[in-house]
Amino acid sequence: MASQKENSIQKSDASRVSKKKRKSSSWMTSLRFRWISQISFFILTIYVGWMFYLFVRYCETGGATVYVPRPPGVEAFLPIGAFMGLKYFLGTGKVDPLHPAGFVIFASILVTSILFQRGFCSWICPVGTISEWAWRFGDWITSKFNKGVKYWVEAFPVKLTCGLSMISTPIVALMLLEIIDMGSFKLLYYKSFSLFMVMISGMIIALIIPFALPRKIWPARVEDSIARAWKYSLLAFFAVNIVIKMPAEQIGLIFAKAPYMKVADVMMMKFFLNLSILAIIVLSAMFVFSIFNKNYWCRYFCPYGALVGILGWASVFRIVRNKETCIDCSKCTIVCPVYIEVEKKSIVYSEECLGCYDCVDSCPVDDTLDMKLLGFGKKIHYTVYAGLVVGLFVVFMNTARVTGYWHNKVPLQEYMERISDLDNPKYKHEQGKFEVE
Ligand code: SF4
Ligand code: SF4
Repeated sequence: MASQKENSIQKSDASRVSKKKRKSSSWMTSLRFRWISQISFFILTIYVGWMFYLFVRYCETGGATVYVPRPPGVEAFLPIGAFMGLKYFLGTGKVDPLHPAGFVIFASILVTSILFQRGFCSWICPVGTISEWAWRFGDWITSKFNKGVKYWVEAFPVKLTCGLSMISTPIVALMLLEIIDMGSFKLLYYKSFSLFMVMISGMIIALIIPFALPRKIWPARVEDSIARAWKYSLLAFFAVNIVIKMPAEQIGLIFAKAPYMKVADVMMMKFFLNLSILAIIVLSAMFVFSIFNKNYWCRYFCPYGALVGILGWASVFRIVRNKETCIDCSKCTIVCPVYIEVEKKSIVYSEECLGCYDCVDSCPVDDTLDMKLLGFGKKIHYTVYAGLVVGLFVVFMNTARVTGYWHNKVPLQEYMERISDLDNPKYKHEQGKFEVE
């Protein structure tokens, strides 16, 4: 395979190839530049998390520890709150009063995606960064495995995710269409045990299919598409139940009167600091799968990733391949972290494209593969693209700061009272049902 690629490069215009090779000998590449951006945002995320932890400790101890102001950036970790904030804004024109920074961050991700496709995922998102580091580490490990083991460690997570998706996706669809709800399973069990058993058998068969069927009749791309239905199911679940069905006035009422919402960020932190056994198992499995599968979380489960991928279709920034000069070396396809067959496209239209520039960086022929501004044919250098993605994000944050849409108006005293009383049942919520005060 490697020698075939080398041959095709040799067959090409040697001067164009060598010129590109000379360029790539420079230390700074799009990958390194991206890592600088990723590491910066990752450090910022750790800093925000640590500041928030210190703030919560201060409130819990009644002011006995050092005071640190609550960092609003922590609201970025409330995905359900973000969807609620979006609906509230669309319905009332007002910003979520409890988590304004969360809304601003979410809105900026959406706008960035419409303009620059999924650049946020590969240049900013700290979860995307962890995913990428995990699979790059995995690539190094699997390079030491033999072919068979390598195939199975990479294929197993996708096959399992695909099998589970064949069970979960129809269930979520039936729930969204209000044909069934959680109680339907109980009812089915008691009313028609045999029908219930048929359903369970169907689920078991769904889990076996991806492992049992040969590739000829079950291609990898089918398996991958079914597995990716997870993230679209999650997105549909949030979109239908919050953005479509929940009236904006009701969300306003929840923001004003539900005690749970006032400490949702603290509850989220507590969830991660006191993980249940089940959560540890699920998160560990996800992490291990992320090592052996490129962008496992982003590709199969992230509802934000699904949303920004869909919005990204509007973007005029696209990877464009020049068919005339392409030497079909496949390098771009091999390096693509989301398995796009770049070598077969003229323009990469894909909701999975991360705008990461890895394919551009790998192409050995000058002016053959570039990010371009469609309609203008202009080549966009990675520093410009990064500047636009990161710049717009930063402009959003700072505009929110100076216009008063970054910090909420909840007084410190209220946080101290609530955080020291978190065991109170009024801070619990069950299946989206909140107590109000
Ligand atoms: S097509 Fe290129 S820019 Fe898009 S994800 Fe693949 S390697 Fe990155
Ligand atoms: S576009 Fe892809 S296949 Fe064509 S020369 Fe560049 S890296 Fe090779």
